[in-house]
Amino acid sequence: SARPLTGRVAVVTGASSGIGEAAAEHLAELGARVVVLARRAERLDGLVARIEKNGGRALALAVDVTDAAAVQAAADRVAAELGGADLLFNNAGVMLPAPIEELATAQWQRQIDLNVTGLMNAIAAFTPQLVKAAAERGVADLINTSSIAAQNIFPNFAVYSGTKAYVTHLSRHLRVELGAKKVRVSAIEPGIVATELQSHVTDEGARAWLEGARETMEWLTPQDVAQTVGFLASLPPRVNLQQVTIMPTGQP
Ligand code: NDP
Repeated sequence: SARPLTGRVAVVTGASSGIGEAAAEHLAELGARVVVLARRAERLDGLVARIEKNGGRALALAVDVTDAAAVQAAADRVAAELGGADLLFNNAGVMLPAPIEELATAQWQRQIDLNVTGLMNAIAAFTPQLVKAAAERGVADLINTSSIAAQNIFPNFAVYSGTKAYVTHLSRHLRVELGAKKVRVSAIEPGIVATELQSHVTDEGARAWLEGARETMEWLTPQDVAQTVGFLASLPPRVNLQQVTIMPTGQP
């Protein structure tokens, strides 16, 4: 059907920009009711208005996912108001490359806090809902945003790569554990996507490297990754893509 996700409730973290925003719009187009999480409430409100103008249904919850209690409160609202989520697109993340010898320990911590602890906070809050939905309806999805950096070596990406290797390997374990309960678990590993992600980089060398990469290839769009999320969630319940690597055609 044109709206294969009708009746489903999708929670998207990091939905105020980039890949999460595009995924929320696409999942709504496919028929899901979407719950959008991020810190910037005004951006989420704009997104909800756009989705509803296009005939979709959406709920904005301004949440810092590094705050476990706030994520749990959001999950409690999703349970009370929408009967629980059956899809979690666990996507919020930050990328702050810098040479390790700069000892940018505050930036190391920000990446670990969001990409690892924030991701785990959402898993803790929503796994019970995913398991319940899968038992009732035969399928649910946990889709984690990893990165090609989980596999490849990029200059000065050690800490970010480490957080994303964590996401990919965690996803493989959870796929086995939760697959037995009909919850599909996938990791999406994108190459370079044009979003706000690069704008937070402060290290000059890393900024220059990223700028250089703009000229040598056409970057992916957030919509390209959003299509992948929609594809995974629309597969028959027996089919689980464990890992999806999606790269710009020109990215080595
Ligand atoms: P963006 O910077 O555009 O999006 C990041 C999102 O995370 C924003 O919505 C931001 O919203 C949200 N976020 C940041 N901190 C928090 C927080 N503490 N609590 C809740 N939400 C938060 O980048 P992308 O769309 O590119 O990134 C999405 C994911 O894709 C990340 O995990 C990233 O690592 C991954 N990725 C991106 C690639 C790329 O080239 N762009 C390549 C491979 C992977 P707000 O600030 O409002 O909280």
